[in-house]
Amino acid sequence: MTKTKYDAIIIGAGISGLLMALALCKEKKNVLIIEKNSHLGGNCRTYEIGGYHMDTGLHAITELSNGPLKILMDRYFSVVPKFTPFGLYYARWQNKLQEIPLTLTQLSFFDILSKRDRILLAGAMIDTVANSSLNKNALKKSVYDYIKNYSFSAKSLKFIDTICYFLSGKSMEETPVWRILSGSDYVDENDKSVKMHFKKIIKFVRHSGHSSHGYPLGGIQGITASVLNSMPKNRITFKTNEKAIELIIKNNKIKGVQTDKEIYSTNTVIYSGFVKNLPNLTNKLSKKYKSKLQKIKQTKSFTLWLGLKSKMPEFSYLGSEVYFDTPTPYWAIPVSNFDSNLAPKNKQLVGFTTILKEDDSKKQLYKLKRAIFSALPNIEKNIEFEHIQITIPEKAAITVGVKFPSPKSPIQGLYLVGTDTNMKSMGITRASYSVLDALEFMKRDRVI
Ligand SMILES: Cc1cc2nc3c(=O)[nH]c(=O)nc-3n(C[C@H](O)[C@H](O)[C@H](O)COP(=O)(O)OP(=O)(O)OC[C@H]3O[C@@H](n4cnc5c(N)ncnc54)[C@H](O)[C@@H]3O)c2cc1C
Repeated sequence: MTKTKYDAIIIGAGISGLLMALALCKEKKNVLIIEKNSHLGGNCRTYEIGGYHMDTGLHAITELSNGPLKILMDRYFSVVPKFTPFGLYYARWQNKLQEIPLTLTQLSFFDILSKRDRILLAGAMIDTVANSSLNKNALKKSVYDYIKNYSFSAKSLKFIDTICYFLSGKSMEETPVWRILSGSDYVDENDKSVKMHFKKIIKFVRHSGHSSHGYPLGGIQGITASVLNSMPKNRITFKTNEKAIELIIKNNKIKGVQTDKEIYSTNTVIYSGFVKNLPNLTNKLSKKYKSKLQKIKQTKSFTLWLGLKSKMPEFSYLGSEVYFDTPTPYWAIPVSNFDSNLAPKNKQLVGFTTILKEDDSKKQLYKLKRAIFSALPNIEKNIEFEHIQITIPEKAAITVGVKFPSPKSPIQGLYLVGTDTNMKSMGITRASYSVLDALEFMKRDRVI
């Protein structure tokens, strides 16, 4: 055991672990952060190959004007990342882009779907938004269970399925209805008052777009870099290339962490790896707790980054697009439109993500490329660079009947953060919610 006793040890230096480390350092705690990889940031990372700067997956950062990341930035950041507005979310159909409808008016113009299906979909959406105020249990059903009696066309079902994958990581059969509402901001998980419900119904008629979505200049590394640059150097110790392998627990209280190199002493551990893997670090968890963790499902994504020799008119927009007229639907973002430094001069960088469904990545690449070339026939001859990433976007997909564990674990002094300990929003925003919640528990426990 090392002589130094840390006030807190954080396992994992992804964005959740780093945000937690920053908060604790600013609360005057001496913190050790252990990361098994050689780099900091986990999935919140951007790296360069051949002049192209790629994020780990495609990112839109949500709730920037008043969400949890903003709260953490206001409280703890000395250096704040610069965000540029994200723009709009489009669907591509026959080489035309149409805004993904968020309101009744937009839906009425969304002629990618038939008139009949648009009217039916409007009915289904009004029904769910109104029901969200009255009947919570109805919203726990899967999207498919909710809409199966509407007899939508195959095309509309494909569209709904694609949106479900985008918002929850799983199909419409597995995605709960409430997830679609909260993902499109029609349920406020923080305010359940009647006034708020009416506000949300009115918003459904007159939505003003995602004004609080942004993209960090320099890529998502910009967020990680700001956290690192804000960190008080005298309070933080980083250990990279070191893996936590066991939690030292006595009488149900945390006493330290054993890694593959050393044993460290502390009374507070914050674990930011996959909660599903927590039982690998201790045999002191109850069967019931472990079986709850085992129910958590994940989705793997397959991202193809394409460097383009010249900028294409097809990508002359800010925002992202979904293409679903294919067996392999994708979500794409021309990221160098947000920040031209992400691609070499006069070139363009576009990322395409789909759900990984094939064991063989060559087959998956073939299918994704077929989808891309059918949507964008001019792109094939303009490609000069390709890069593939296979990643897990969220540590837990949001699926019917699955509950995430609380940030306060059953072991005294052990807290959990990350996208599998909070269901609000998505990605980095969800990770930030989890950090705020864990800090709240730590305050109640008088750790800070
Ligand atoms: C394809 C894709 C699309 C995405 N889209 C969006 C988006 O649009 N918007 C958005 O906000 N977010 C998005 N995200 C998600 C976002 O990047 C992640 O939610 C966020 O980065 C997760 O941070 P985290 O710290 O919780 O987890 P991670 O980044 O997974 O960090 C966990 C860290 O813990 C380390 N670790 C685990 N176990 C141990 C151990 N035993 N010992 C030491 N270290 C350990 C890991 O090595 C890792 O570095 C996307 C991600 C991907 C991949």
